[in-house]
Amino acid sequence: MSQIEHDVLVIGAGIAGAAITQVLLQQGQTVRVLDAGLKPASGTSAHAFALAHPGLIRARPLLQRLTYIAFALAKKTWQPFWREEGIFQPLKPGTEFNESLLNEQLVSAGFDQDSAQPINASKAQHLTGVSRDGIWFPQGATINLEKTCTTIFGQQDSLAYEANTIVASISYDGVDWWALDQKGLPLAKAKSVVLACAHGAKELAAGLQITLPLKPVRGQLNQFQISATSSWLKYLPTAAISGEGYCLPASYDENTKMYTLVVGSTYDENETSLATWPRSDEYNRQQAASLLNYVAGNLAELNIANSFVGVRCVANDRLPIIGAVPSMPGLYIATALGSRGVLWSALAAAIISELVQVREVAHLQGRPSTGNHASAAALVRLARLGLSADLVAAISPARFLVGALPPALASNSKPILPLGSKAK
Ligand SMILES: Cc1cc2nc3c(=O)[nH]c(=O)nc-3n(C[C@H](O)[C@H](O)[C@H](O)COP(=O)(O)OP(=O)(O)OC[C@H]3O[C@@H](n4cnc5c(N)ncnc54)[C@H](O)[C@@H]3O)c2cc1C
Repeated sequence: MSQIEHDVLVIGAGIAGAAITQVLLQQGQTVRVLDAGLKPASGTSAHAFALAHPGLIRARPLLQRLTYIAFALAKKTWQPFWREEGIFQPLKPGTEFNESLLNEQLVSAGFDQDSAQPINASKAQHLTGVSRDGIWFPQGATINLEKTCTTIFGQQDSLAYEANTIVASISYDGVDWWALDQKGLPLAKAKSVVLACAHGAKELAAGLQITLPLKPVRGQLNQFQISATSSWLKYLPTAAISGEGYCLPASYDENTKMYTLVVGSTYDENETSLATWPRSDEYNRQQAASLLNYVAGNLAELNIANSFVGVRCVANDRLPIIGAVPSMPGLYIATALGSRGVLWSALAAAIISELVQVREVAHLQGRPSTGNHASAAALVRLARLGLSADLVAAISPARFLVGALPPALASNSKPILPLGSKAK
């Protein structure tokens, strides 16, 4: 084990670990990152085409509020990697285009004219190449997750990044957290530990008698090649489209004289296969036809050039799991980022870095860090980011532990019983 002691130990070098590490380093903390993969972003973050947009989510107001805040944080957190080109969210098929109603809904969700604009099908055709009614988000962006992680873990001074290192368990000795290998030998220790290891967090938490209700959801993206004589040409998007699925703007390759269209993705619950599936290829062809409003298009003209398959980590309530574990001082979790890795990683970084700082200050002042004072202090700081107590509670790991939310973090919502227990 290295003699150098770090302030914080981060387990996982995907986009969650990258966001948290970056903000902790900016705060002046020293960070040690352990990851099972041979290089950064070897899990689900091995993904070059992630979309980030705030979206209008009418059915889930809490998710809408979280998404809105996380988008603003992501824009800041991922600035050097952010390719802001706008994203178009078409309305669900069969939904009537009512501009004033949409404007009302956008305003009540916090958007202004500069950040979201309802556009009808003919305007959308002009702006995005796709003839569907919907909402244009000019600040929507794409990010290459893999490149982002590689850059963050490759360049920093106060950072020790160790690849090819599986953490089999973690334990707390009352002062420090220890990461242990399969033989129970120490790999590293620090005052704080962050489980930013997607599904790996389930096993590490289970070792501490914490049940995280995580499930795998496989997703496949396809890169289709389309010939310059195809009838699809008239329908190809000039902007990213995100609705029932998503696609990136089509690009043209001078050498091959072909167009490329990236379309995804499937949502295969409880599947972990990383193999490319023919039925997913077919699903994505259909998805292209419906996203681009060309259902009569010949699907055989969408030739597969490449695919990306990843396994998302999703909690049973489909919200991310971000925050401190009550009664375990210095233990933080950032997992279940689902299909919103760009947004939730930035949110995780903002929350966990604040919690780490509050704990440090409490420690310096000789106060216990798990008490109400600490959680109240953290809430004051998070409120500055727009994160009210109900939002923090909704994504806290404590929601899966009966009676675990400290009073300051308890929301007015119904308690959530741990997995396996039966509510009466
Ligand atoms: C097809 C598809 C399309 C997607 N599109 C988008 C999109 O457009 N926009 C968007 O925002 N998100 C998208 N996502 C989601 C996004 O990719 C994920 O949310 C994100 O990559 C998850 O990041 P993570 O850091 O939590 O997990 P990962 O990237 O999986 O990283 C976890 C890391 O932990 C390590 N690890 C695990 N266990 C251990 C252990 N015990 N010891 C040491 N290391 C360990 C692993 O090696 C891995 O590197 C998509 C996902 C898929 C599958």
